[in-house]
Amino acid sequence: MAEKRDYYEILGIDRSASEDDIKKAYRALAKKYHPDLNKDEDAPEKFKEVQEAYEVLNDPQTKSTYDQFGHAGLESSGFNFDNFSFDNFGFGGFGDLGDIFGSFFGGMGGQTRARNSNAPRKGQDKFMSMKIDFMESIKGLTKTLKLDVEEQCSECLGSGAKSKNDIKSCPTCNGTGRTVRTQQTMFGMSQVQTTCPNCQGSGQVIENKCPKCKGSGFNKKKIEVEVTIPAGIQSGQQLRIAGKGDRGFNGGPNGDLYIEVMVMPHNYFQRNGNDIYITVPLSIVDATLGSKIDVPTVHGDVQLTIPSGTQPDQRFRLKGKGVKDIRTSYYGDQYVIVDVKVPTSLNREEKELFNKLKDIEKKSKKSVFERFRNSFK
Ligand SMILES: [Zn+2]
Ligand SMILES: [Zn+2]
Repeated sequence: MAEKRDYYEILGIDRSASEDDIKKAYRALAKKYHPDLNKDEDAPEKFKEVQEAYEVLNDPQTKSTYDQFGHAGLESSGFNFDNFSFDNFGFGGFGDLGDIFGSFFGGMGGQTRARNSNAPRKGQDKFMSMKIDFMESIKGLTKTLKLDVEEQCSECLGSGAKSKNDIKSCPTCNGTGRTVRTQQTMFGMSQVQTTCPNCQGSGQVIENKCPKCKGSGFNKKKIEVEVTIPAGIQSGQQLRIAGKGDRGFNGGPNGDLYIEVMVMPHNYFQRNGNDIYITVPLSIVDATLGSKIDVPTVHGDVQLTIPSGTQPDQRFRLKGKGVKDIRTSYYGDQYVIVDVKVPTSLNREEKELFNKLKDIEKKSKKSVFERFRNSFK
């Protein structure tokens, strides 16, 4: 390719252009150079250039790299220019332009790329969710799932016909699977190909159906699948089970099964990233004098030294006692928050001791409240 042109120049805007200006300029130029509208020889190249400029300037991160370092900066940052090969511009690839062109062409995209219904196609992906306990998410587990899948019919090997002689070429489309009709569009007369309504694009019709699958070519079957859920998985993460989605078409592969894992909350442990938070009650005596306590963690009890003079809601860190990261295998930490409990009922001995403390405070005039009051005088 020749020397790359400045992206701002390509879009005909200056460097202070707002996000909206960039979008507007792009929309106008994309329409101008779209190869389906502009038959000039250099339209595809121009269109590609406009697309690339927009992709870079529309993303604040790549825009700032470009503003600072130009084209070289993008290359060294690993920006993928290969995305702009012309083949990628199916109508789905337009992002927010899709609807503009969609309404413009009245579905011409489908016409120029009429799908060959006889070609093997991958089946649809399936989605399901699975609830697991909090501790299961920490340790990982293997679960057996019962699934309903569709399997190729063993009787007709998927043809749906009773015998080979029952498969006939479709008379409506002469076996092509498509019918062609001429239609008036805003760009003139245009031939529109559609899927044959008689054979649904297969090009074949079946005279006598296979009795086992009733002509569908497949049968439902219950199977069991072992699913391994890795330690450290978080609520909302998905597992992919390859090939356990819906069956493929015309010999294409099956879709995949996606399982979204939902982790049930724990009564005491709370997870944030790979860290665990737990609140533990602490007596006013232990907080004042200090103590050693055994704190539950997801890996079992761990001794924690509470220093004297610990304050309510003070937080302690148990390093490496959190959750194992699902990718790096590093462990997070556990944070212990102390909930200092003020006693609400005292026995006689305790009451005496608290009264004694009160007397001492009075004598030394060291009550915190007293000192607070005095600061107002
Ligand atoms: Zn047909
Ligand atoms: Zn069958």
